Amino acid sequence: MRYDVVIAGAGPVGLLLACELGQAGCSVLVLEQAASPESPLKRLPFGLRGLNAPTLEALDRRGLLDAVAAGQVLKPEKGPPPPGTAHWLSQPRRLGGHFAGIPFALDNVDSGRWPWRLPTPVGTQMAVELQALEAVLAERAQVLGVVILRGAGVQDVRSGTDQVQVEAGGQSFRGRWLVGCDGGRSTVRKQCGFTFAGTDPEFTGHSLSAELEDPTVLSPGRHITAQGMCNFNPPGTIALADFDGGAGHRQPLDRDTAQALLRRISGRDATITTLHLAATWTDGARQAIAYRRGRVLLAGDAAHVHSPLGGQGLNLGLGDAMNLGWKLAAVVRGDADEALLDTYQAERHPIGARVLEWSRAQVALMRPGAGSRALAAIVADLAEARDGATYLAERVWGVGQQLDLGQAHPLVGRSTPDFLLADGRRMGELLRAGQAVLLVFDAAIPCSEAADIERTRILWIEQPAVDSLGLSALLVRPDGNVAWASDGADATGLAQAVRQWGCPVGREAIA
Ligand SMILES: Cc1cc2nc3c(=O)[nH]c(=O)nc-3n(C[C@H](O)[C@H](O)[C@H](O)COP(=O)(O)OP(=O)(O)OC[C@H]3O[C@@H](n4cnc5c(N)ncnc54)[C@H](O)[C@@H]3O)c2cc1C
Repeated sequence: MRYDVVIAGAGPVGLLLACELGQAGCSVLVLEQAASPESPLKRLPFGLRGLNAPTLEALDRRGLLDAVAAGQVLKPEKGPPPPGTAHWLSQPRRLGGHFAGIPFALDNVDSGRWPWRLPTPVGTQMAVELQALEAVLAERAQVLGVVILRGAGVQDVRSGTDQVQVEAGGQSFRGRWLVGCDGGRSTVRKQCGFTFAGTDPEFTGHSLSAELEDPTVLSPGRHITAQGMCNFNPPGTIALADFDGGAGHRQPLDRDTAQALLRRISGRDATITTLHLAATWTDGARQAIAYRRGRVLLAGDAAHVHSPLGGQGLNLGLGDAMNLGWKLAAVVRGDADEALLDTYQAERHPIGARVLEWSRAQVALMRPGAGSRALAAIVADLAEARDGATYLAERVWGVGQQLDLGQAHPLVGRSTPDFLLADGRRMGELLRAGQAVLLVFDAAIPCSEAADIERTRILWIEQPAVDSLGLSALLVRPDGNVAWASDGADATGLAQAVRQWGCPVGREAIA
């Protein structure tokens, strides 16, 4: 059988992309190298992942947020955070997040700076376990008819003019398209000759789960030391940054070497009695120059890697999946020209590049030299100021993201506000069919004239909103980004926006 789309990798990005394509009616095969979806690295404490506003909105817009939220790690009613939870997440003062370990306070963030954000139950941050998130996505993908084959790592790719042949787990598979979501060391990226450009690592990050003879010798929280960075979350979750140029990455670590490393970086006489688990990562920051080569595309860590500082990589990758899914589905179904796929690169590459810069800037503040310490002290002062906290929140929560869609209106390219309609439905709910939505708040605007021929491509709703932000109408793409908006009685540009960004629905939304 030839699939519409073969996806390499059943990580969170591959799975969300599979859901998007499955919902749009495509036949999808996901090939996953690991035999089991379970791994201690995906469970707490190592598997803790922070989700930001674009991710939470995306999950809401596909009806997945409740299932993901059911497993969230830091629900207030769940009581104290589990052992090993990131220290900044369990502080008494409500923290909004951090930048290179420099916290900013929630009560210092001025959300009035984002007038397009309406009150919404969706939120801007959530901490989840990676394994639980993947389980929710895998279950949805399977409901949508996606085939997930585990223990089938992609080994070889041959890309032709009308299909791609993939060798995996000793078998051969064919797809009209292949998307590499196979992580930072992507085989698809390497096999298909994508250029991966960027900067080499300055440090090796070590995540340790250990038992300490006396945990009180280490101070909880993140500390920059003369040798690097030590982040201790009692009783035994430790993250270390060793500025060794990345030499320690993927080197085996036993109890003795872990203890020596901990003592050197922390400067404390800590004794590890048992080392349960150790993993490494680096701050190497690289991004594929192109996200597409012929019939092969990249998404998630396969397209960009950077340090996990400040928790952005997963959110970035899930954003790729939301952006690419409906476009690739439209091309597969013949509803759109292949040129639509060029907008994936044009829209997502700059956002990825910005995240890489964010990650590099944090590394610059963490270096153990006097210059970095001085700079970090200044940034800490700025983070205490309202403007500084708001700036950091905008970047960390992802609420300032705006795609370049040739902005004819300031809202264009932004995530749609979560309008509450007079009948009680929210915008997030209207997007669950994965279709573009035209919301007409003011019946006087001549939308019908402009877009009548394209009605099949959009969900058309005429209804006032509790707060329409002064808009008379707006067009929202299937991925939730505003494609066109008007404040007055002028519908100029709507017909073209519907033709460009509208998308006939493939399946009904899942309730
Ligand atoms: C310690 C740590 C903390 C982090 N915290 C955060 C956070 O708080 N917030 C955040 O946004 N991000 C965070 N990240 C980053 C985030 O985990 C990644 O960006 C995210 O998992 C990327 O998802 P992905 O699906 O692209 O890749 P992966 O999660 O790497 O999944 C790739 C999948 O492909 C499979 N695979 C590999 N090779 C092949 C092959 N040849 N064939 C088939 N399958 C293959 C793998 O087994 C895997 O299942 C953190 C990362 C680390 C290391």
